[in-house]
Amino acid sequence: MRNEQIYEGKAKKLLLTDDKNVLLQRFKDSATAFNGVKKAEFAGKGETNNAISTFCFQKLEAAGVPTHFIERVNDRDMLIKRLDMIPLEIVVRNIVAGSLAKRTGLDEGTVVKEPIVETYLKRDDLNDPHLADVHVFMLDILRPDQLERLKQLALKVNATLDPIFERAGMKLVDFKLEFGLDADGQVVLGDEFSPDTSRLWDLETRRKLDKDVFRADLGDLMEVYHEVAARLGVLPQT
Ligand code: UDP
Repeated sequence: MRNEQIYEGKAKKLLLTDDKNVLLQRFKDSATAFNGVKKAEFAGKGETNNAISTFCFQKLEAAGVPTHFIERVNDRDMLIKRLDMIPLEIVVRNIVAGSLAKRTGLDEGTVVKEPIVETYLKRDDLNDPHLADVHVFMLDILRPDQLERLKQLALKVNATLDPIFERAGMKLVDFKLEFGLDADGQVVLGDEFSPDTSRLWDLETRRKLDKDVFRADLGDLMEVYHEVAARLGVLPQT
């Protein structure tokens, strides 16, 4: 297997394989927040997020959401289909938190009546600005039918995973997705689904079980990530 790295992000790397349509996605132990301003290493985070993402992608595929996931090949790597990534961050929200609380003045914890889907431009240098649909079209990022399909899929991800997290004693407060286009121009879910890119609260106590623990120095991040993995029935990572 070739090992040439073609991309390194804040929490993952992408490497080539012998098949030009398949990449190896490697989960790193790094955590960053506030657009990379705060950084730290957490031993075992890569393995835990690989396991949680694998679990979520398998549930989503079973529910009919097309994803880039092929298989988990070892502790920190999964094989994925190569996509032409769409430069958007798609956020779905069930409960008000984070930037939505700041932007609207609503209290953190307010229930969003109907889940909402938001679109942000993936541009660190611009601080990932929020985009209206007209801007997505103006920037020639997607056609209207593709954006519609992407939003439908984002809501389907929510409808699939929210009850799974709920059965595991957690509220899926919000999460970020990234999509790509396959060779046929079809919208496919890429990236990851983990406590790095979602907010998960204990159903009873509302204790935060996600990267906000790192952002706000609320405790031991790996203890929390292991708890999420254990509650989902994903093998405990060592
Ligand atoms: N999120 C992410 N990457 C980003 C921005 C947000 O994974 O670059 C996730 C974040 O963890 C949360 C959701 O998207 O689950 C909504 O984040 P929000 O807009 O509230 O921004 P934040 O408060 O994280 O700045």
